[in-house]
This record gives sequence, C-alpha cells and structure tokens, in this order.
Amino acid sequence: MRSQKHIQFVALTVFLVMTLVAAVPFWLHRSTTASMQVLRSELEQQQRLDNILNALRDAETGQRGFIITGNENFLHPYYEAEQRLPAAIRVAKGNARSDAERADIWRIARVAELKLAELDETVAMRRTAGFASTEKVVSSMRGKAYMDELRRLIGIQQARTEARRDRLRTEMLAGASRSFAFSLGATLINICALGALLIVLARMLRERKQTARQLEQKAGQLAEAVELSGRHNRELRTVAGMLRAIEALPSSQDTGPAVARGFTRLLPGVGGTFFALCNGETTLCRLAQWGDTSSQPEKVGLDDCWALRHGARYRTTGYDEPGCGHYRNRAGDEDHAARLCIPLVTHEELVGMIHLEGLAHERSVREEQERLAVTVGEQLALALGNARLRESLRRQSVLDPLTGLFNRRYFDETLKRELARSRRMAAPLSLVVLDVDHFKRVNDGFGHAAGDAVLRAIAQLVRQSIRDCDVACRYGGEELVILMPDCMQEDAARRAEALRADIAGAPPMHDGAGADVITASFGVAEYPKHGPDAESLFWAADKALYKAKREGRNRVVAAANT
Ligand code: GH3
Ligand code: MG
Ligand code: MG
Repeated sequence: MRSQKHIQFVALTVFLVMTLVAAVPFWLHRSTTASMQVLRSELEQQQRLDNILNALRDAETGQRGFIITGNENFLHPYYEAEQRLPAAIRVAKGNARSDAERADIWRIARVAELKLAELDETVAMRRTAGFASTEKVVSSMRGKAYMDELRRLIGIQQARTEARRDRLRTEMLAGASRSFAFSLGATLINICALGALLIVLARMLRERKQTARQLEQKAGQLAEAVELSGRHNRELRTVAGMLRAIEALPSSQDTGPAVARGFTRLLPGVGGTFFALCNGETTLCRLAQWGDTSSQPEKVGLDDCWALRHGARYRTTGYDEPGCGHYRNRAGDEDHAARLCIPLVTHEELVGMIHLEGLAHERSVREEQERLAVTVGEQLALALGNARLRESLRRQSVLDPLTGLFNRRYFDETLKRELARSRRMAAPLSLVVLDVDHFKRVNDGFGHAAGDAVLRAIAQLVRQSIRDCDVACRYGGEELVILMPDCMQEDAARRAEALRADIAGAPPMHDGAGADVITASFGVAEYPKHGPDAESLFWAADKALYKAKREGRNRVVAAANT
C-alpha cells in the first residue's frame, strides 16, 4: 500500500518534470526566433543607413568628376542617388523602433536632403557658370561638412545598433545557458525520480513475491490441515462406528467382524488378525482376520507373543529382529518383516491383541499407520473391557450366585420365550422340576454350609447332564428346573432318570461325617401335551413332582396325560 503511494507520487513527479522539459525547446525556439528577428531588422536598418551614405558618397564622386571634367557621364551615380534616396530615407524612417531613433533618422534624412540640394546646386552651377565658379563653391567645404555630419549621425546609429546586438547576443546566450541548466537539472531530477521509481518497483515486486510465497505456503498448510482434519474425521467416524457396533453386540466373542471391518477401512492394504481373551481361559482366541494376511493360529498363548509378554506394542521390520511364536509366512512371502502386535489392555487387564502385517515400507507412512493402529487399539481395548464388564453384569443378573445356574427371573423369561418358539415351530418342549429329598435334614444334621455344598454339587451334576440348548435354573431353595427344547416327555423322563441315578450314586457331597445318601425327586411335563402356557405346564410338572414325593421320593414321575 505504502509502495503504491510512493509509485504514484514518483510517477506524477516524473510526468510533471518531463512536461516541463518538453516545453523548454518551444520556449527556447520562440525566444531565439524573436531575438533573431530583432537582430535581422537591426541589420537591415543599418544596411539602409549605410546605403544612404554610400549613395550620397557615389553621388558626390560623380559630382566632382563632372565639375572637374564637365563630362556628363560622371553624373550617373548622382542621378541614381537622387532617384533612390527619397525612398530609402522613407523606409528607414518607417522602420525606426524608438522615438529617439526616429529623431536621429529625421536628422540623417535632413542632412542627406541638404547634401543632395548642395549637389544639385553645384551641378547646376557647373553647367551654367563653369568650373572656376563651381570650384569656389565646392571648396567652401559645405558639402564635406554635410558628409561629415552624416557619417557622425550614422556612426552613432551604428554604435547603438551594435550595442543592442551585443545585448541581444548576450541575452540569447544567457537564455541558452538557462535552458541548458534547466534541461540538465530536469534530466537529473528525472534520473533520480526514475531511479527511485525503479527501487520502489523492485521493492514492491520483492514484497509481492514474498507475499505470494507466504500465501502459497499458507494455502499449502491450510490444504494439508484440511486434508488432515478430513482424514481424522473419517478415521473418527470409522472408529466410532466400530465402537458402536461392539457396544451393540451381545458378547465380546462376537466382535470379530466389526473389528475387521473397522481396520480394513482405517488401514487399507494392511492385513490383520484380531485375538480376544477366550471365555474363562487365559489364552487369546482368533476372532477375525482381514486383508492379505498369514494364516494365524486359532489360539495364541501369552508366551507366544512379545507384545503380550511385555504388555507393549512389538514391531518387527526385518529378519534381524526376533519374531513372535504366532508369526506365519504369508503365501509367497518369506519375510516376516513390518509386522506389528498391539496388546489390548484396559484397567491393567489384557483383553485381546491386534496383529498387523504388510505395513508400509516408507518409514513416515508406517509410523502414521502405527500411530493410528495404537490409538484405535486403545479405544478397542476400552470397548472390549466394557463389553466384558457388561457380559459379567448381565451374567450376574441372571445367575444364581450359589449354584451358578440361571435364577428364577431368567427361568420365567426363558420359559415364555421357549414356549413361544415351540408354538411357532410346532416343536415339543419338556420341563423337568427337581426337588432334593429331605434337604431339611441335611441342614439340620450337618449345617447350612453342608446344605450349600450339596446344592452346588447337584447343580454341577445337572450342568454335566444337560445339552447346550437346555436351560437349567434354581427355582428356589433346593428346587431346580430344567427346560429341554425340542424334547418329548419320554426323552426328558429318560434323561431325568439318568440324572436321578447320578445324584443318588454320587459320593458324599459335603464334609459332614456319616452323611446320608442324597437323592432327588423329579416331575416331568411336556408342552403342549400338559399345558398350553407357562403356568399350566409348570403346574403339571410340579404335580408330577409331588406325586414322586408321595410315592416315596428318589424317583421320576411323568405328568399324566390330561
Ligand atoms: P421334602 O423331601 O419333602 O422336599 O423335604 P425337605 O426337607 O427337602 O423339604 P422342606 O421344604 O421341608 O425343606 C427345605 C429346606 O431347604 C428348608 C430350608 O432351610 C432349606 N433351604 C432352602 N434354601 C436353602 C439354601 O440356600 N441353603 C441351605 N443350606 N438350605 C436351604
Ligand atoms: Mg422343596
Ligand atoms: Mg425338598
């Protein structure tokens, strides 16, 4: 901005100075022309006066020749002068430039006329009176006096003219010097102004270049920042999606696909395997694999991985670094280079591990991939920890703490759900109700703790005897129930009988000395045979159980057909 003002000011100065310099030759030409004109007219006037004097001198010469010789031929110059002089005197008078000059020329004209009159007189006298009389008149020096006076007057004019010419010349010279000095000064000013202009322009160009460079740099940085923030946003969205999916899943063991999907999006081109802590175990189970990866083992022990051993990420970039026990070569890839194991730890508890393969060879890219993987790993560990916590809470809310079987609340929900499913599928559903015989005696005889031990032992036997799809619950006190989907009453009764025999044949279930043999009674009912809903089905099974009690206990009674 400041430079621009400087340029405008300097450009205006240069323009004004150049306009003035351009005007100088015109002014100089005009004043020189005027001076030359004055000079020329001075010279012409002088010439006129000289001509008057010369004409009179020639006329005098002719007069003398005629007077001496009487020869008329001598009178030619005289006649010529007589003819030319009046016009010459008139022109000289008309060209007088001042009153003083005009008065002098009047005087010259007057003397010239007197001289002419003297010549006329003597010429006429020579003709009439002859040489002797005329010679006397001539010798009287009157004519000479006129000529002398004329010479003096013209000399004065000449001196004046010369003085004027000198003055004019001096003025012209002074004018030329002035215009030279002015031109020189103006040129110097212009050179300085143009120099300043160039300096300002150069500075401005430099500033502009610098500004352009800075702007370019800023634009680059901005584009990078925008690109980076866009990438981070995309990453954040992907991670958030992955974490949301994990949160929505019922079990941490189901998180594999969500993790694989997330890492595939976050680190394209990088293969990987996700391991999570197996349920109730200390080894890690493979839950998902993605990308171009080696076939990783299904289970990885804590000693199989440097990252798990040290609780910190472990990276290998070449042969010279020791690989983990779970490393496998990819097809056509002899190198186990550029791999990364990230332990997933939350609240100082190991919940899983991410193993990445095919990380970029370029260091900066690889470090960026590693940074992202570690950040995501931290979030994933937290989400897995939360999932496990949720699972544990859920388990606690549906499990009976003493026996580890499901509780009555869970049973009620499950019975309704299974009944609905059986109704939908038109499949049978059997319900077995189990009650420990004379349990009061155990409590009374060996104490409450012994009674608890008996309940835990029976629950364990129940767990061992049921199928994966069966649901065993502690209904209350020493009464247990087993739901057997897709199972007819006969099969259920058969399996109940086997369980009854197991309980009756089991070794002492508590530390109390001389403990009685523990037995249990069973009632078995089937949907839809013994009831269309939960209440009627349970009632039928319970009725069969009491029948078993009445008939002497330690037996299985199937509900009677209604
Ligand atoms: P029956 O053969 O008729 O079933 O006789 P029983 O003694 O088993 O039946 P009863 O209903 O008279 O007694 C049940 C006893 O179970 C009463 C109660 O003190 C005991 N009991 C209920 N829950 C627990 C428990 O969680 N721990 C222990 N140790 N005892 C329990
Ligand atoms: Mg009971
Ligand atoms: Mg009982």
